[in-house]
Amino acid sequence: MHHFNYRDNELYCEDVPIKLIAEKVGTPFYLYSHATLKRHFLTFDDAFDGIDRLVCFSAKANTSLAVLKLFADLGGGLDIVSGGELYRGLKAGIPPEKIVYSGVGKRKDEIDYALSAGILMFNIESLEELELINDRARLLKKKAPVAIRVNPDVDPKTHPYISTGLEKNKFGINTEAAIDCYKIAGGLKNIDVIGIDCHIGSQITEAEPFKDALSSIKTLINELRGLNIDIKYIDMGGGLGITYDDESPPHPGEYARSIMQAIEDMHVKLILEPGRVIVGNAGILVAKVLYRKQGKAKEFVIVDAGMNDLVRPSLYDAFHAIMPVVELEGEQIVADVVGPICETGDFLAVDRRIADFRQGDLLAVMSAGAYGFVMSSNYCSRLKVAEVMVRDDRFHVIRARQNYEHLIEGESIPPFL
Ligand SMILES: *Cc1c(COP(=O)(O)O)cnc(C)c1O
Repeated sequence: MHHFNYRDNELYCEDVPIKLIAEKVGTPFYLYSHATLKRHFLTFDDAFDGIDRLVCFSAKANTSLAVLKLFADLGGGLDIVSGGELYRGLKAGIPPEKIVYSGVGKRKDEIDYALSAGILMFNIESLEELELINDRARLLKKKAPVAIRVNPDVDPKTHPYISTGLEKNKFGINTEAAIDCYKIAGGLKNIDVIGIDCHIGSQITEAEPFKDALSSIKTLINELRGLNIDIKYIDMGGGLGITYDDESPPHPGEYARSIMQAIEDMHVKLILEPGRVIVGNAGILVAKVLYRKQGKAKEFVIVDAGMNDLVRPSLYDAFHAIMPVVELEGEQIVADVVGPICETGDFLAVDRRIADFRQGDLLAVMSAGAYGFVMSSNYCSRLKVAEVMVRDDRFHVIRARQNYEHLIEGESIPPFL
């Protein structure tokens, strides 16, 4: 459920007509609904009522300060994968003791930054990383709290680019090697072993992969406890899918129940790292039709947003519904919705039945709140678009559209030219 609905024949975000925002802000822009963000966060968090847990929103799904601030105010923590995300999280007011740090390639300076900030824990993805964190913690006279990210080798049945918990994926440490890793970690002076972590993939639409991962984690925890290695936190990662088209992923309530049942007797604090399920359907991308053209084999609707603004269709073959901002009279057409970029991969929809869009019409690319703006680039020297948040009948530009000066910021022509 979200708050992008038609009233009469116009698409609204909460109580604001989207056309009005387009007139004020120009196109393209990302648009987020405050009520939807809040409801999704609380629905997810409340689903775990009754157990000790911390919901660490996965920053990489949407790192806008306003979005992070909203979750901070709701008591949320943050799952980060870079020093930059740590910086943003702290700026948005997320308490460091609610931040977990994942990712296979943490750099020395990023580790130092996180140690100095005093984050909740590092999710360790390799032995070498563990050793480096121990070294850095010693130099900074700290003890680094860590969880080992295990790779349970379960198939999340999602797009190969976003499956992370298979043996062949680069993430985590396989369950056999994990025991040794824990033993080594236990012997390191500046490491405090506190948890176990897994994240098996994204846009997962079935409950089974989560259950399989959890059962493998439970076995491991019992083994570790047998070795006197105490695990206080289970981090179940993120990955719960959403409806883009006709998927029917488990409801957060169902997802929560199966996890809570499984860890009932484990005496651990649960950490969750949801990203997409919180923000995905809370945001859209609004664009304008530049031209329509009839090719020999296909009809094209050419819009002012491209793969540099929303790369998911090009990168993952992802489906995003395309809706008219003002409902259109004509019969539906079948067309490709494409951007202005000089790549054949630059499309938002292919062979799609859509409204009879004409030059100047506004369209909404739905479910674009996760992995949307964050993955955008300046390719083709296109300006990064504005981001807007609506709350009730108000809207606010939470990120200004770039201008041409931003494009060359930091560039310099050498004196030898
Ligand atoms: C990307 C990521 C998440 C969030 O995944 P979603 O599918 O958006 O919920 C959580 N944890 C880690 C470690 C990630 O890399």
